Amino acid sequence: MPRKKPDADSCTPPGSAGAAAKEDREARLCILCSKKMFFTKEMQVHVCLNKEHGVLAYYKLDDCYFTSREDVGLKLAKEGRKFHMIEPDVLKMIGVES
Ligand SMILES: [Zn+2]
Repeated sequence: MPRKKPDADSCTPPGSAGAAAKEDREARLCILCSKKMFFTKEMQVHVCLNKEHGVLAYYKLDDCYFTSREDVGLKLAKEGRKFHMIEPDVLKMIGVES
């Protein structure tokens, strides 16, 4: 006789990913223009859209910045920050429009 299985036994409850996946909720100011960056929950990145310096994204888990502008990359390099140059299209995928 078939018995109804509880569907909870293979289910991972939300929030059980542990401390390593803890959300970065803290407000962060843009290192280029000092405006408040907004946080995208989906990508876990902080983003500043100031047109003066183009889109700047910061990924805290990796302590790394993302920019598509070479001049911004040079500035970050001078300051000894970790960063990646990426295509503007990739920034759009983060959910921002430049
Ligand atoms: Zn900025």
